[in-house]
Amino acid sequence: MINVSKKCIGCNKCVPVCPFAAIQLIDRKAVINEACTLCGACVQVCPVQAIEIAREEASTRDLTGHKGVWVFVELMQTQAGDKHPHKIRPVTFELLSIGRRLADELGEELSAILLTDKNAGFEKELGSYGADKVYLVENPELYEYNTDIFSTAIIALAHRHKPAIMLYGATIMGRDLAPRVASSLYTGLTADCTALAIKDGLLLQSRPAFGGNIMADILSPNSRPQMATVRPNVMKLAEPIYGKVALTVREDIKIDKSLRRVKVLERELSRETGGAKIEEARIIVSGGRGMKTKAGFKQLEELCRLLGGVVGASRGAVDMGLKEKSHQVGQSGTTVSPKLYLAFGISGAVQHIVGMKSSDVIVAVNKDPNAPIFNVAKYGVVGDAHEIAPKLIEALKKK
Ligand SMILES: Cc1cc2nc3c(=O)[nH]c(=O)nc-3n(C[C@H](O)[C@H](O)[C@H](O)COP(=O)(O)OP(=O)(O)OC[C@H]3O[C@@H](n4cnc5c(N)ncnc54)[C@H](O)[C@@H]3O)c2cc1C
Repeated sequence: MINVSKKCIGCNKCVPVCPFAAIQLIDRKAVINEACTLCGACVQVCPVQAIEIAREEASTRDLTGHKGVWVFVELMQTQAGDKHPHKIRPVTFELLSIGRRLADELGEELSAILLTDKNAGFEKELGSYGADKVYLVENPELYEYNTDIFSTAIIALAHRHKPAIMLYGATIMGRDLAPRVASSLYTGLTADCTALAIKDGLLLQSRPAFGGNIMADILSPNSRPQMATVRPNVMKLAEPIYGKVALTVREDIKIDKSLRRVKVLERELSRETGGAKIEEARIIVSGGRGMKTKAGFKQLEELCRLLGGVVGASRGAVDMGLKEKSHQVGQSGTTVSPKLYLAFGISGAVQHIVGMKSSDVIVAVNKDPNAPIFNVAKYGVVGDAHEIAPKLIEALKKK
């Protein structure tokens, strides 16, 4: 709630600072319209303290009745010719896997939130990864993602059922949707969590902070739901229990198509430059600044081809122009979780480690025996990458 008091002197200082053009000067008095988002920019510049925002005290809110862990189900388009036009994005199963552990610890239910134009029996898969319940909203307006439509549906569901925790993938969709839901529910959101746990009944949200130099543990004691996003490949996938089907609860939510402020006029498919995507690779051969030259990287590419993997790179290597940014592994690159991760000439800075530490087997080659990469490696080779890579290539070729 924002108010302009009689103290207003019509000085016009607040009008140009409003990022949403929500203030007009009428009869030498600031008048605020519905475009206002309560950002407070005007409050800061008012010389006579005439503008006041009355915010609800978070600590006075009634949190009783909030129960259960929710996971937003992200759907993605399937290939042309597939039976169904949509399938569940794998990060959803990773979120259900961690969500199951959180729900068990709290002794509460794990629910999946499925918004779709047509359900294709998704509850079977969602159940096998641990969901007790699927809240299903089926509506033709949900045929594709739209911020206004999807957030309206989720906010309505959250008001109706009061979850304690809501988890989203830190994908393009999740990163768009979660902040909008959080601000409408007047709650917080921790983005890109690398670990989630329960502490004294609260969601303990851990994520790198200050450029990855420290890990921040975040609790939200005064607001509900507690909301977090998690990047794909960060949480370990649980073994599915086939045959366990979640209970489907159909929800009737009024969705008005006039809510849709953005209309998709045209779609253009971006063409991949070929090869598998790094986030889905089972084997990654990664190089760092220690590879020194493009020719050094060529060795890794050859090794990669023989192993049937994808080439990765540290930011150091990307900054040197040895590999394109799309191959960068780490905090400001892609988080990966392959079966095998080979690291050549990578020191193991924390920003790199957070992006690959959940790989099943890590093998590191570095000439410095004290390189931090060895702290996360299952197998470590102290030596020159330029000598070891050709030996591996030779051995694989012989095989
Ligand atoms: C906000 C922020 C985000 C970041 N995001 C990322 C990210 O997403 N990914 C990322 O990787 N980094 C990221 N970084 C950068 C990170 O801090 C490191 O600077 C970077 O990872 C270093 O890359 P490197 O290991 O290749 O290079 P270096 O740290 O220079 O290490 C090179 C290593 O190669 C070894 N070496 C040298 N020659 C040889 C040889 N002949 N044989 C074997 N070993 C050899 C050396 O002993 C050394 O350990 C980020 C930093 C910040 C501040």
